[in-house]
Amino acid sequence: MIKFPNPDIIADAINSYGNAPSTDTLTKVLEAFSILMQEAAEVLIPVVEEDEQVSLLTLMNENNQTFVIGFTSEYQAKAAGYDTTISRRWTDYLSMILEIEGCAGLCVNPGDKFPFSIQKLMINALIAESEKEAFKNSISLFKGDITTLKVDCIVNAANNSLLGGGGVDGAIHAAAGPDLLAECRILQGCPTGQAKITNGYKLPAKYVIHTVGPIYNVNSEDPRHTQERTELGSCYRSCLELAKVFHIHSIAFPCISCGAYGYPLDEATKIAFIETVQWLNENPNYGMQVTFVCFNDEAYNVYETVINKAQNPDPDAPNFMTLFAGMAQGQAKN
Ligand code: ADP
Repeated sequence: MIKFPNPDIIADAINSYGNAPSTDTLTKVLEAFSILMQEAAEVLIPVVEEDEQVSLLTLMNENNQTFVIGFTSEYQAKAAGYDTTISRRWTDYLSMILEIEGCAGLCVNPGDKFPFSIQKLMINALIAESEKEAFKNSISLFKGDITTLKVDCIVNAANNSLLGGGGVDGAIHAAAGPDLLAECRILQGCPTGQAKITNGYKLPAKYVIHTVGPIYNVNSEDPRHTQERTELGSCYRSCLELAKVFHIHSIAFPCISCGAYGYPLDEATKIAFIETVQWLNENPNYGMQVTFVCFNDEAYNVYETVINKAQNPDPDAPNFMTLFAGMAQGQAKN
């Protein structure tokens, strides 16, 4: 079963490096910095207030070099005895450090078992790397088989048992191999509207997020189908939230509930799109590349219409444009 990552991925990586220093564990530390820089995550900076002035606290190493300080979490700051901290984005703080004269670099989590110092030269390299590979939010369309996509994660429209089925579920299990079913067995099912994660095994995608869409009730007394609507929206949101926990930056969705579960395609597409755009707008700097996978021309045309409407709003439905504003737009792929 997949281990959930420690949210403090820098401290985690530093700890692994401290316990077993090697090029490999050091690379993991630098990767953790890169990921958090690209996700626009924040660092806690200890400061002192004196005579109405706020100054950065510094430390000196055994070679009399001065380092400013950064903490990866409130827990780390408190453990080191620093109560007054301000927070800044990692990229902004590291860029600022380069400008401070007489400062050799940054000391991360002093007070922890393995404090970690980064010299200015390395800070320069980290900044250059993060600029090269900046993640951006985007939405794209892909017509074809989801199991062929080389993305961080594909989403499976599964059933509550998570033990395999037909449609896209069957295709994903067939392509991933039997290890996927073995891992799914441990998960003990999944409620409708929620999501669970596994490895991707033989798939080109590293992970599979399994979500369970609602069965569309054609005999419902509610003309708005509120329950199905809420549950379907929740599928998209739960997948995106879970992906974020795993620092996943590219995710492909099939048309959840639009096959055996009978959800009308155009209704489901609007829900998929609105929920995704809302999430992207709530996470403007995270950098999530969302691909909607359409298995046939019909689905592709419906998605294309909805996206075109969002880009060229109908005055009678201005909500779409508002939701789409502020987001990097992906291109449609054929
Ligand atoms: P559900 O039970 O949630 O309705 P289905 O698997 O029956 O799930 O259908 C969901 C959608 O997945 C349908 O639009 C179907 O056309 C599509 N689909 C089926 N196989 C694939 C595949 N290999 N890649 C992408 N989409 C697929």
